Amino acid sequence: MPLERVCYDCGSRTTTPVARCDCGEPLWLATDPSALSTFDWDAVTDAPGMWRYAPLLPVDGVPADDAGLLHAAGGTPLLRTPALDDFAGARVHVKVEGEHPTGSFKDRGSALGVAAVAAGHAGDVSAVGTVSHGNMAMSTAAFAAAADLPCLVLVPADVPEARLEVVAQFDPTVRRVAGDYGRLYERTLDVGPDHGVAFLNSDVPLRTAGQKTTTLEICEAFATGADTASSATASTPASAPDAIVFPVSSGGHASAAWKALRELRESGVLDAADVPSLYLVQAAACAPIAEAFEADAEDVTPVEEDETIAYSIANPDPPSGKRALAAARDTGGAVLAVDDDAIRTAQRELATEAGLSVEAASAVALAGLQELTTRGTVDASDDVAVVATGTGLKEATGATVEAPTVDLADVDDELAAFGDAK
Ligand SMILES: *Cc1c(COP(=O)(O)O)cnc(C)c1O
Ligand SMILES: [Zn+2]
Repeated sequence: MPLERVCYDCGSRTTTPVARCDCGEPLWLATDPSALSTFDWDAVTDAPGMWRYAPLLPVDGVPADDAGLLHAAGGTPLLRTPALDDFAGARVHVKVEGEHPTGSFKDRGSALGVAAVAAGHAGDVSAVGTVSHGNMAMSTAAFAAAADLPCLVLVPADVPEARLEVVAQFDPTVRRVAGDYGRLYERTLDVGPDHGVAFLNSDVPLRTAGQKTTTLEICEAFATGADTASSATASTPASAPDAIVFPVSSGGHASAAWKALRELRESGVLDAADVPSLYLVQAAACAPIAEAFEADAEDVTPVEEDETIAYSIANPDPPSGKRALAAARDTGGAVLAVDDDAIRTAQRELATEAGLSVEAASAVALAGLQELTTRGTVDASDDVAVVATGTGLKEATGATVEAPTVDLADVDDELAAFGDAK
């Protein structure tokens, strides 16, 4: 079954398994129109994780019961966290993507991509690849291992050995590549299929199809009252949050969110007035999409990247930058940037107030929400889903450690002091 691909920008369609339109913009997969016309929350299947949305996914149904890791993608909790409301200035709901097997939302796109390749839906390919040395590399390698597909991971020449070890545990083929990493990203999309390799890079159609399930889950939780703590009364449940905040790098996840919202609108599940605004947040040290938004530009101009603790989202030349801009504008949202101090503060807040360890790149979303409420763009009464894209348990957090050593003989005194002080 060849999957039809559509350009969000010029509307061109193709069944050739390419990632880019002739106009240069990224393609996404057309969703079955008959599935769209009949979709509502009752149409979701009783399947594990993201596969409950099988009618809206380019798959022939739910993966078989013995599909292993595929069943562990999606289905992450959306937590109502009042303890963060004061800090954020709005009613916070945290989507905990760090619960995934490899610790980030990338597993949604990897699962869909690997399932599609294994089922022969991705053209004449029998292997997967990716251009990444972070979460995407780990995720693609893990899902490929579970599906017994060969996997090629291309990393920059100067990546530290320690970063590669976490990827290498899944035994992909790893090659360091000297040269421009952005050009390598596009080159692999062009040439991979000629050699039977489907490159599941950040914003390709298959990855985007899988990653739209983050947003479907958030909206379903509101619509069906699974998130019973939304501000609406029980008799008039909110059908969606007022806003969803994402950290953004390539723009792939944000594009997927936009696609999900367009599909919910098209199927009549969401009224135009109820579509949540998409707010996209970057680290100030590398914020090409936020700069383009501020400048009212139609497209993104590449920037020189500075160091940031949010290294997972430092992309100076985002391949879906223009599409992310369109996503924010179409939904009445915005793209903004926050500095490293604000990111650290938000990261600490998530840990100390909500018990959630997220990586710095993910804390960007909460820092961005705080900025939006300070500006008055988002109201205190708004229900806002903050997408915590990845776990912090894989990295050093910079938290101050105060742990003096006490002698066993002095532990009673220590407990007494702690008990008095608490
Ligand atoms: C990849 C990643 C992002 C950014 O997603 P894009 O689709 O590239 O915009 C954000 N947070 C984490 C933890 C990631 O791994
Ligand atoms: Zn186009």
